[in-house]
Amino acid sequence: MDNDIPVIPHWIAGTRTTGSGARTAPVFDPALGRPRAAVVLADDSDVQAAVASAGAASGAWGELSVARRQRVMFAFRELLNARKDELALLITHEHGKVVSDALGEISRGLEVVEFATGFAHLTKGEYSDNVSTGVDAFTFRQPLGVVGIISPFNFPAMVPLWFAPIALAAGNAVILKPSEKDPSAAVWIAELLQEAGLPDGVFTVLHGDKQAVDGLIDHPDVAAISFVGSTAIAKYVYQRGSAQGKRVQAFGGAKNHMLVLGDADLDTAADAAVSAAYGSAGERCMAVSVVLAVDEIADELVRRIDERASTLRVGDGRRDCDMGPLVTAQHRERVASYIDVAAHDGATVVRDGREVVVDGDEGGFWLGPTLIDRVPTSSTVYSDEIFGPVLSIVRVRDLAEGIELINASSYGNGTALFTADGGAARRFQRDAHVGMIGVNVPIPVPVAFHSFGGWKDSLFGDTKAYGPQSFQFFTREKAVTLRWPEHMTAGLSMGFPGND
Ligand code: NAD
Repeated sequence: MDNDIPVIPHWIAGTRTTGSGARTAPVFDPALGRPRAAVVLADDSDVQAAVASAGAASGAWGELSVARRQRVMFAFRELLNARKDELALLITHEHGKVVSDALGEISRGLEVVEFATGFAHLTKGEYSDNVSTGVDAFTFRQPLGVVGIISPFNFPAMVPLWFAPIALAAGNAVILKPSEKDPSAAVWIAELLQEAGLPDGVFTVLHGDKQAVDGLIDHPDVAAISFVGSTAIAKYVYQRGSAQGKRVQAFGGAKNHMLVLGDADLDTAADAAVSAAYGSAGERCMAVSVVLAVDEIADELVRRIDERASTLRVGDGRRDCDMGPLVTAQHRERVASYIDVAAHDGATVVRDGREVVVDGDEGGFWLGPTLIDRVPTSSTVYSDEIFGPVLSIVRVRDLAEGIELINASSYGNGTALFTADGGAARRFQRDAHVGMIGVNVPIPVPVAFHSFGGWKDSLFGDTKAYGPQSFQFFTREKAVTLRWPEHMTAGLSMGFPGND
């Protein structure tokens, strides 16, 4: 590795550290196609140091009053809002998405921080008076201790912010293992949390790969894991963690279908398809990657989508373009390879993103908007998560056939229906086997006070991210049954406790 290249450190015990520093990985600027930094990759001693520091800090943080923890969350919210432009640029440097899109992901993260500031209400217990003569019962929730968050490359700020504000507000210490492809946002967030008054050790950033992930899952002092990434790894993390009796929620990949019926407004549908398929170069878990078009409007819809795709300016995200590069050269090659597969499988390549003219450095990992019509459902172009700017069109007879295809997919993250028919929308929202549904909304990511999560291979575990379910995940409930001395006159009772 070049000696002049900056090294992105871990954040342990409130300070930057390279730890053992034995291994590093390059971090690219995808719009230039060149490494801009190297990130340290944790070994076992770094995992031990991270967990020890988090474990030492977690008790005192969990003991702090609700008001004091709330003050830190409010201060963090103010700082993040004031300095979001700085973070957005950092995301664009390493991920490649355009700056306005990076700001968009930060605003969805901020929304969760704002939701977390109200945690006092969401962690309240319940009280029942006089459940038996002279006996009262109540529940309350306690933090888990140290929790791990393992995040993907595609939302370096938003995904950590889906979990960390909730886990912290609830009184836990957090160890974040961000993606090694764009790790700087995590350290930036850690420094901001410190500035907001979070005690050292309560938020840790541990960089690394499989070794760090396995180390966190297996460590006896890590109580829970929130994972987001591809389905194969999500399933692995879920199985490995839950086999050890840990709480695990593991969010996986997606293949989101947008169904357009004959009565839909075609301009609205075409706008939605283009934004949802090509925004962030298709590297979103809620991106639309398949449009199911009913036969009577399919030709016209494809024409309008293609017309709009032709107007997108692809290039360096710092130059006010519409769409940036893919995250790495390898990922770009993998995504582009599906265009040949499509042609081989008998689909029609309407727009080939390999021919795009870019406003950016020629070394960047570019692939323009790609539109493929008449994709056979037997093709891997249809069934695989491609995770790039490749939109497949599949023609269907009607609503019923569309729902049937959606339900046959192994994924169940998000789906959308475009129609003017309320009855069709109701049938769709009830029958689709998918966790998040949009009606005339292409990317139906729930707001922070509703929880986020898919079905089937898109989520392993039974608790969703943020919203009310997240406080259940990051706390344990205790039930207390109490009787005070003046009623303790009943004498021996050997039977099972009743409720008279
Ligand atoms: P990825 O699965 O390659 O990596 C995710 C995390 O797992 C990273 O931190 C990575 O370091 C770690 N990891 C990678 N290989 C590992 C291994 N063998 N063992 C243990 N840990 C490992 O995913 P990615 O490419 O960073 O992100 C894109 C994927 O994430 C897509 O599939 C996308 O759909 C998915 N995603 C899902 C959601 C959701 O909410 N369902 C949200 C965002 C992204």
